[in-house]
Amino acid sequence: MTDSLRSDPQPLAAAKGPIPWPGYALSLAYTAAALAAGFVLKTGFGITNLGLVLLLAVLASAVRHGLLPALLASIVSVLAYNFLFIPPLYTFSVANPDDVVALVIFAIVAVIASNLAAIVRTQVIAERERAAQTESLYLFSRKLTGVIALDDLLWATAYHIAEMLKVRVVILLPEAGWLTLQSAYPPDEVHDEADIAAARWAFDHASPAGCGTDLFGKAMRQFLPMRTGRGTVGVIGIDRDGMPAALSPVQRRLFDALANQAALAIERVQLADAMEKNKLAAETEKLRNALFTSISHDLRTPLAVILGAASSLKDLAGSLEPAAHRELASTIQDEGERLNRFIANLLDMTRLESGAVAPHLEPTDIGDVAGSAATRAARVLNGHALQVNIAPDLPLAHLDPVLFEQVLFNLLDNAGKYAPSGTTVVVSAQASDGIIRLDVVDEGPGIPDADLERIFDKFCRVMAADRKRPGTGLGLAIARGFVEAMGGTLSAANRNDRPGAIFSITLPIEVA
Ligand code: ADP
Repeated sequence: MTDSLRSDPQPLAAAKGPIPWPGYALSLAYTAAALAAGFVLKTGFGITNLGLVLLLAVLASAVRHGLLPALLASIVSVLAYNFLFIPPLYTFSVANPDDVVALVIFAIVAVIASNLAAIVRTQVIAERERAAQTESLYLFSRKLTGVIALDDLLWATAYHIAEMLKVRVVILLPEAGWLTLQSAYPPDEVHDEADIAAARWAFDHASPAGCGTDLFGKAMRQFLPMRTGRGTVGVIGIDRDGMPAALSPVQRRLFDALANQAALAIERVQLADAMEKNKLAAETEKLRNALFTSISHDLRTPLAVILGAASSLKDLAGSLEPAAHRELASTIQDEGERLNRFIANLLDMTRLESGAVAPHLEPTDIGDVAGSAATRAARVLNGHALQVNIAPDLPLAHLDPVLFEQVLFNLLDNAGKYAPSGTTVVVSAQASDGIIRLDVVDEGPGIPDADLERIFDKFCRVMAADRKRPGTGLGLAIARGFVEAMGGTLSAANRNDRPGAIFSITLPIEVA
């Protein structure tokens, strides 16, 4: 990109402009000063060879103001030198042939020196311009890399192009098949029919159209495509206060460099957006599948068991032993409760997701809530020993007792499901550093380290074997949702002393 700029020494500002009169005036002033100095040297010190003094004025004019003012200074110097210092004085005739030679040589040297000095000046200016352009392009690309939102990106592009090329800029991108104005600097609209047609043509054919080109010459702006390797991402329209903005070759190359960088950045942002949308769609799809699987498994399994038990009860009513009768009835009750829990879980999740969970926080005794959760979970913990160790001086917690009981129930339910019967489940709570910490610890297999965070996702069930156990993969997601709604945290870890899971809740202490 910078290579394309390096090949042309013509400065950006070399576009045709008004004649720089001050340069000519100053060059004449240098010449006048040199003549005055010559006069002093001649009358004061008798020095007659004054050509070099006048040459200084010519060189100064060339270096500071360019070739034409230097040539003017050369002509005036030759004439004044002849008029003022070469005998016969105060005439343009020359008596001595030596003086003719000196005058001619002076004129030739002045012209050559003007030329050389002017070339050096042009190169220095071009070099400065190039350095400024490179710096500006670098800043532009750095700015674009940091931008994530498309609007900011387009604004930065429009502003930068407008500032660097001193033009007005509009940027149009395709949207639902139409080219629409997305950004402009200064803020502007595109109403002109010819402009719209030119923009469309520039976009469709990926080449310039509009004023200053062969196509749609009546348009107010010139439209140039923004291209990447994958195609045209949009068009940029430029004008100078309603006048055609004819770009010099150097300006055009600079414009191309800016437009290419902007096109790549736009493509990057658009690709990132598309990827985000795809990810979201894939996630939604995954959730939907998980929900279907869960519903088909968790709804149908208990239903099938209930139907089987109910029909056995009906068909074998007369011949059943009382114990078998009780067994079938309690199966129906268990599975009915399981169905009830499943539906309650789905409802809780929906409430959480729609933001309808508004906890009624009140000073609560954790021991009381732990007790009622343990009673509710007695059936699922049948076969396990449950120990509840609540510190006697535990302060009141700031929570919603109904939600918190549901959280504890979900954790105890899991402990009952995943830890083998005959093992102990411990609920302990203590306070320190302004928070209450409650742990539910079991002696089950624990959770693979890689899944310690994932198990809180909806419908996440770690092991394939989990599918055989009743459950929805929602219990922990709901528990965490409820705890967080109450201003606490819920996390999982594994025991160090033996296999087993630890679920830890932290809660703020009720402030009196
Ligand atoms: P589920 O309805 O499957 O129990 P949860 O959200 O309650 O859903 O739990 C998600 C997953 O976390 C479970 O499928 C299980 O793999 C794992 N898990 C939860 N609690 C325990 C535990 N106490 N011990 C081992 N694994 C557990």
